[in-house]
Amino acid sequence: MQKIAEGFEHQLPSWTIIILNDNQWKSWKKPNPSDSTFSILGANRTYVHEHYMRSSDDKIERSLAHELGHLTLKSNKEEDANRWADAYFKLKKKK
Ligand SMILES: [Zn+2]
Repeated sequence: MQKIAEGFEHQLPSWTIIILNDNQWKSWKKPNPSDSTFSILGANRTYVHEHYMRSSDDKIERSLAHELGHLTLKSNKEEDANRWADAYFKLKKKK
């Protein structure tokens, strides 16, 4: 997770990823309860359910890119975050 997060080139002054255990996870009000990751805009913080750590690197990278999209665009809209993530991976492929 650390390595994947560090692989991102981003414009945020800081970005913190916090892994929550199941109890902590349940105590948070999430924008979308079915998600395994969510972010707090303005705080540049992304929360990840500990279970999600078992996902493949690709899946984790994809989700982190999506969350980074929310934070970078300061938008809660899923389509904005997805568009940002798509653009990010397109750029990355070219390098
Ligand atoms: Zn989202």
